[in-house]
Amino acid sequence: MASRNGFAGVGADSREDNGAMDVSLTFLGAAGTVTGSKFLLRTDTAQVLIDAGLFQGLKALRRRNWDSLGLPVPSLDAAVISHAHLDHCGYLPALVRQGFNGPVFMTADTAALAEIVLRDSAKLQEEDAKYASSRGFSKHSKPKPLYDLDHVERTLPLFRTVDFDASVAVADEISVRLVPAGHILGSTSPVITVAGRTVVFSGDLGRANHPLLRPPPPPPAADAIVVESTYGDRVHMSDPSNDLADAITSTVARGGSVVIPAFAVDRTELLLLALGDLLRAGRIPAVPVYVDSPMALRGLQVYRDALGQSRGDLRPDLPEDLLEDRHVHAAHTAAESQALNNPAHPCIIISASGMATGGRVLHHLKHMLPDARNSVVMVGYQAVGTRGRSLVDGAAQVKIHGEYIPVNAQIVDIEGFSVHADGDELLTWLGSAAAPPKIVYVVHGEPAAAATLARRIGQELGWLAVVARDGERVRVR
Ligand SMILES: [Zn+2]
Repeated sequence: MASRNGFAGVGADSREDNGAMDVSLTFLGAAGTVTGSKFLLRTDTAQVLIDAGLFQGLKALRRRNWDSLGLPVPSLDAAVISHAHLDHCGYLPALVRQGFNGPVFMTADTAALAEIVLRDSAKLQEEDAKYASSRGFSKHSKPKPLYDLDHVERTLPLFRTVDFDASVAVADEISVRLVPAGHILGSTSPVITVAGRTVVFSGDLGRANHPLLRPPPPPPAADAIVVESTYGDRVHMSDPSNDLADAITSTVARGGSVVIPAFAVDRTELLLLALGDLLRAGRIPAVPVYVDSPMALRGLQVYRDALGQSRGDLRPDLPEDLLEDRHVHAAHTAAESQALNNPAHPCIIISASGMATGGRVLHHLKHMLPDARNSVVMVGYQAVGTRGRSLVDGAAQVKIHGEYIPVNAQIVDIEGFSVHADGDELLTWLGSAAAPPKIVYVVHGEPAAAATLARRIGQELGWLAVVARDGERVRVR
């Protein structure tokens, strides 16, 4: 039976045998890959999108941002955003471009951070389109950006902020409760109640050792759990600060500087805390630390404000001035940023983007990669197809702004700074659930990571667990 908007149903009947309303879940992204999170919950009377993320990384994936979602976008009733990372909220302005005009539910800090992230994303989309047209790369005579600032301005008024743990109706027979996920400030695991059934989305799940955020609580009883698997086949080291100290100390000893590509939101804050601790303990030389990313500096302000008000997902009793540090210098302008390209004395530069796919960090890499005295320290997940992944995988050269740059600097990969739970932590979180779900769908991981986690859930918890397939639609019972 077709629904009111012609989106064909999977079952012949819209009602199940017992008369309950049919509910389906469709995996429109982050299935078989880590980016592009988009999950559609659909009943006879409503359609709600959980996360609206951009695909990132390989060109074939990025092209998918232009594909049709296979549903009439204007008929979407609402969207729920788990957190402010681009691969979870970055598609929102593209939805608006296609006529979406419904409410978008998220926490207040997610709204504050998403505004920063989306404005930056629009700028990057516009720059990419301009670059493609100047180089004749695009097949279109006049390449258009996926969205522009105007689409972002039309997206922001749709935001509806929701308190942690408050239950809010988002559409007919669909309500959401946003439970803290401990991943970045404002991040949540959305718990959706839909026509009497409950689906828990892990969102990106944090770790118990985040220095600012409370660990995620156990999941509530649910009919289905949709769980991320970014690091589903790995176990993080417990304390990465020794590796960071070693990398910095040896680099400075040979007269070099350290570049750290970092996600503008959250990773910059964690690095500043770790560097502050190392400096105070005398474990690294007292060289200046620069934060060279306007987006990261704006994000840092959101964290400082949250600390000032001891917001809900923060650990209790954190000092208000935790993220103020005398050693940190901010590079706001392009001139201040360029002055860092050839630093006269060793320094540490934290700059975005985290996977070296764009942003100011590219200029630093271009200048600093050829010099063997320097180091590039990678502290976040590097998706397949990104420059960051090439560097971690030992590339002898990388292409930046159309030029091949030799990689002579030391590349150090420190996985322990991840704000994603590892395989053991994901299993512990699932295993702490109030009751076993009927099924677990594993998403948001490259195929090996997702398969490993699904197998472990089956073997160690004895639950039915499957890796969600891209575009797959399943019934929620
Ligand atoms: Zn995230």
